[in-house]
Amino acid sequence: MLVCPVRNCRLPLNREDRRLLCDRGHSFDIARSGYINLLQPQDRRSNQPGDTVAAVAARRRLHDRGVTQPLFHAIAEILCPSDSDIVLDAGCGDGFYLGTLARQSGFNAHGVDISVPAIEAAARRYPECQWIVANADRFVPFAGRSFSIIMSITARMNDSEFRRVLGDDGRLLVALPAADDLIELRGSGHDRTARTVESFARHFTLADQRRVTTVADLDAAAVHDVLLSIYRPMRSRPVEAMRVTFSLDLLLFRAAEPVIPSSSEPRRSRE
Ligand SMILES: [Zn+2]
Repeated sequence: MLVCPVRNCRLPLNREDRRLLCDRGHSFDIARSGYINLLQPQDRRSNQPGDTVAAVAARRRLHDRGVTQPLFHAIAEILCPSDSDIVLDAGCGDGFYLGTLARQSGFNAHGVDISVPAIEAAARRYPECQWIVANADRFVPFAGRSFSIIMSITARMNDSEFRRVLGDDGRLLVALPAADDLIELRGSGHDRTARTVESFARHFTLADQRRVTTVADLDAAAVHDVLLSIYRPMRSRPVEAMRVTFSLDLLLFRAAEPVIPSSSEPRRSRE
């Protein structure tokens, strides 16, 4: 199901001991913690693309405190996966949503993220899932129609690649930060749902939509973790305990019918 990420290669990758190999000889090592790094030189705009070690650790501490449990429950409810699903989480971060959902539902789980620290953390905690370091903005390194569900949770989105790797009966869940997400820390944001539905219209149709909001009374350490996770510079004065809003807009899409180009329509012969 994994395909070679080398530009213009795209052959299937086969496992051989501690590495994956395509028939052209491109080879990728499996890390000690079990993940596979498929990042290509052109994907590395910096030495450490994606989330930093500090941001990944802060986000995991917030998940572990239970702050994001209501968000998780809403995602599980709208998706309602079964053990026969094959699920991709594109931009999976530390793997909390995919890993927890997979343990509940028993489905076949695959997580992709561009951050090595994020995938490392995911692989250590949820070794039963497959974890890949790759730049899904450019290319999702799987064969066509590999998945029955794709999740994109506050991550960057690639609508044409999502459509390519999703089965024709598949579902796509997009979670966007809602306008009131972390409003106490970064002010009011924008409602991004309409623009997102429009940008996905070529490949997906909206099937369901809901907003999940939770407020948490956080101590100073947890507020500090939220700031770390969103890369807000620390203020000069110490952060204080406060009530913080977490809010997501959930959009559930179904794959649209493939569009038949008009040039391939049968033409009437002129008489
Ligand atoms: Zn190759």
